[in-house]
Amino acid sequence: METYTDQYIGGSWRPSLGEGTITVLNPATEEDLAAVAAGDAADVDAAVAAARAAQRAWGATSKEVRLGFLAAIRDGLAARQEEIAATVTAELGAPIGFSAAVHAGLPLAVAAGYVDLLAGFEFTERVGNSTVYREPAGVVGAITPWNYPLHQIVAKVVPALAAGCTVVLKPAEDTPLVARLFAQIVHEAGLPAGVFNLVTGLGAVAGAALAAHPDVELVSFTGSTAVGRAIAEQAGRGIKRVALELGGKSANVVLPGADLARAVNVNVGNVFANSGQTCSAWTRLLVHQDQYEEAVTIAAKAAAKYVPGDPTAPETRLGPVVNAKQRDRVRGYIQAGIDAGARVVAGGVDAPEGAERGFFVRPTILADVTPEMTVAQEEIFGPVLCVLAYRDEDHAVELANGTEYGLAGGVWAADEETAVAFARRMDTGQVDINGGRFNPLAPFGGYKGSGIGRELGRHGLEEFLRTKSLQF
Ligand code: NAD
Repeated sequence: METYTDQYIGGSWRPSLGEGTITVLNPATEEDLAAVAAGDAADVDAAVAAARAAQRAWGATSKEVRLGFLAAIRDGLAARQEEIAATVTAELGAPIGFSAAVHAGLPLAVAAGYVDLLAGFEFTERVGNSTVYREPAGVVGAITPWNYPLHQIVAKVVPALAAGCTVVLKPAEDTPLVARLFAQIVHEAGLPAGVFNLVTGLGAVAGAALAAHPDVELVSFTGSTAVGRAIAEQAGRGIKRVALELGGKSANVVLPGADLARAVNVNVGNVFANSGQTCSAWTRLLVHQDQYEEAVTIAAKAAAKYVPGDPTAPETRLGPVVNAKQRDRVRGYIQAGIDAGARVVAGGVDAPEGAERGFFVRPTILADVTPEMTVAQEEIFGPVLCVLAYRDEDHAVELANGTEYGLAGGVWAADEETAVAFARRMDTGQVDINGGRFNPLAPFGGYKGSGIGRELGRHGLEEFLRTKSLQF
């Protein structure tokens, strides 16, 4: 087992100032994979100082210069696709096919998209007798979760660099290995020292120090609502900008006349992908009461095709969840659903057959879920789908909007016009119409408790800019 006791600060790997290490587990085998430095406030101070020292010069580079570096990062991601996929499968437990396509492929698509976008992006604009300059927001503190570990890093770091910001990244403690791999890619791209810095460490120590640092001008955070709220409160006191991508409890609404079988099958795949650890997952399936039993039967049948197994085997579609705490939490929710009167039509609380080791959860479908149940309100973050019945369209809107969250959703209808009309009534940041595919160039982010700000595409770049107007 490798032990890494260094941090990437100021353009080189240097010994961490923090004491001790964090052990990274393989969630499928429960074996130790590696250990990384448990960085502390002193590491964060050093990284922020390096970022601050590099900020003015980096912010003053031409778009063309930054484009060259972004293209090198994109090429580095392309060259290491297999290594990235294997690393994420090892530390997160995602099936290798999914890791290759999504955990490795999506960050590459996002980085490539930003190279194209930056080439055509205008940093100045004429408004009447003014010229408006879009300038970098300054030093960015990026704090990321473990569920899409490289995607979330790239979705923050690449647009921040494109905008001319310098960055200190604090990745999730469960998945620091792919973050270290990303730092190597950035290093090989030859960025000036201090433009990108990595500090691994615990959230409550390194993450809290980064979020609170007076020299960090913008905190871009993806993670739980509880931590996001604490960061926003603190940022409020410091008059600091925040971008928050938080949890979700998204609804997939099947309207009468839609292709029910397709809508339900796609929903089951959507919610079991990445073992249900997707913030935008459609964790609530809403169907008309007249089609309810038919939908439940289709969902149960579809769930049977997802058998938890070894994530390194190419045929595996469902791996473990990330750690023991998450497994216990998910099973606790399934039990809470049963206790509240939900009907288990697939899966359940017990460990899957044959899974002696690993943090596996049975892919579970809960029927007879009513809106006030905890399982219908709270984010479970595991392979669990709740099926709810609605009476009419207004009731469906009320259910869809009836949680504290508003991140994503789906609508299925006989025609696009009907689906779009319904989607416009949903308090949520993005909605897939009749199975519309995820678009890495479209803005991604939440309404209500799901967050503030947008990532990806032009909107994601603009998060890292501020404007200055000069009047003539
Ligand atoms: P988390 O909030 O515990 O951790 C996220 C990150 O914050 C980690 O790097 C962690 O070390 C750090 N952190 C923890 N405590 C901190 C503190 N006090 N100060 C500063 N940083 C701190 O969340 P998690 O369990 O890692 O991730 C799961 C959550 O993330 C889910 O709720 C999920 O919905 C959400 N998520 C949202 C999106 C989105 O785009 N909206 C995407 C992915 C995940």
